[in-house]
Amino acid sequence: MEKITLNNGVKIPQLGLGVFKVADDQTLTDSINAALAAGYRHFDTAKIYHNEDGVGTALANADVKREELFVTSKLWDNVTTYDETKRAFEASLKRLKLDYLDMYLIHWPSAGYNEKWRAMEDLYHDGLIKAIGVSNFEANHLEKLLTTAKVVPVVDQIETHPYFQQTALHALLHDLDIRHEAWGPLGQGKSDVLTNPVLAEIAAAHHKSTAQVILRWHLQRGEIVIPKSIHQKRIEQNIDVFDFKLTAADMLAIAGLNKDQRGSSDPQDEAWLA
Ligand code: NAD
Repeated sequence: MEKITLNNGVKIPQLGLGVFKVADDQTLTDSINAALAAGYRHFDTAKIYHNEDGVGTALANADVKREELFVTSKLWDNVTTYDETKRAFEASLKRLKLDYLDMYLIHWPSAGYNEKWRAMEDLYHDGLIKAIGVSNFEANHLEKLLTTAKVVPVVDQIETHPYFQQTALHALLHDLDIRHEAWGPLGQGKSDVLTNPVLAEIAAAHHKSTAQVILRWHLQRGEIVIPKSIHQKRIEQNIDVFDFKLTAADMLAIAGLNKDQRGSSDPQDEAWLA
């Protein structure tokens, strides 16, 4: 598994398993076990996914050393202050049954993010989090955060797929030395991207699936990627993307599929963030 070195020197496996909408039951345990067996070491959860507990149990029962694992969770929007941030973090850590978190993200640019970031910086300096970052931050949010931040976020986890390529934000993140992490990398099943004929043709040429071509496109753009599946075959397929390369022509053809078509909530939508 390829690793990416973040701006603070921490290494993150470039591909991980996302567990959004995975119920905290046997499905989650089976998915994590299938992922571990397939070679995944990076897991992406959040307070709001209501499955940190099960992620923690599955990882605690796994025959994998803690230092090999990379676990991310996220601070939910109901938290608005410095103190609440510290308490929410402690609660996540406890549910995950860990004594440190590899990465902790502000989930959305909701009220009080400069103060929440200050608390995360302190947790980072205390060694309780190895790397801190943000999610769903756009240029204006990053600009405001950086007026008070002492630590530059390591990643910005943002919706990204071939129909919503985030071209401008991708370039800005590159300039700021913040890694682009793609959520909804396969389009979340909300569009026909997985049956797109351009992608299908590229997939056939490489003897891969369209999902694998999309994941490979993210990797070749330098993104960190966290596809979700609860099916063993797909979990295996989604990590089997390190043995082929898209050509420059493939990359150009996929760039041409961009429609700036968001599938989920808009971070500029004040009503959503309220
Ligand atoms: P995704 O783009 O990973 O799509 C997942 C869906 O794609 C699956 O439910 C399945 O229907 C399909 N799929 C997966 N593998 C496939 C394959 N090989 N072939 C065919 N179909 C396949 O969507 P997601 O789960 O929303 O995003 C991935 C992860 O990103 C989440 O699980 C979560 O960890 C994270 N996320 C973060 C945010 C945020 O606000 N930060 C928001 C959404 C998701």
